[in-house]
Amino acid sequence: MRKFTSPALLVATHNQGKFEEMVALLAPFGISAVSAKDYDLPEPEETGTTFIENARIKAHAAAKATGLPALADDSGIEVGALGNAPGVYTADWAETPNGRDFIMAMTRVQQELDAIKAPYPRHARFCCTLVLAWPDGHDEIFEGVMDGQVIWPMRGDQGHGYDPIFQPNGYDITFGEMDRWEKNKISHRADAFKKLVSLLEHA
Ligand code: IMP
Repeated sequence: MRKFTSPALLVATHNQGKFEEMVALLAPFGISAVSAKDYDLPEPEETGTTFIENARIKAHAAAKATGLPALADDSGIEVGALGNAPGVYTADWAETPNGRDFIMAMTRVQQELDAIKAPYPRHARFCCTLVLAWPDGHDEIFEGVMDGQVIWPMRGDQGHGYDPIFQPNGYDITFGEMDRWEKNKISHRADAFKKLVSLLEHA
């Protein structure tokens, strides 16, 4: 496994919520995160059908464009009773002509579960794949998950995306009700980061 020795890392996401989570996760390692927005990078089309494919597309495009090592994540929520939908299409479920509408997306999850009378608890899993890509084309892949259940009505205004309908196992609050520090300890992204850390600690 290739070690990471650069003091700066380009975080290849245009999602401010994800960027802030990644900055917080990288800070203890003394690595400063630069945003894709600072470089005005275009958002590549996510044409993959898996989290790994999409994360690789984003990480390699950013590394190639900037000459910096780049970290990209692809993530989403898999709802068991919906055949693991929305999965890689998690963001797409929120798309509208006027931007992303996560209340609409979360409502769709609930409506589809009700339509098939899915039994409780309604298992869901947040997944995160991190890809660290170097400008020479090498990459390393790390996968993390957090299991929980879909709850309704949505609760909490912390976090982002689908946080208000996801209650992680072992908690009676949703990600939307959890403070960022707490979420960053247990989230799918934190799980993937723990695996990435082995690469950073021995840099
Ligand atoms: P991506 O940018 O293609 O990876 O989109 C992932 C989708 O999953 C976005 O719509 C996010 O809002 C959602 N998502 C990923 N991680 C989280 C999370 O920690 N909480 C809530 N939603 C998330």
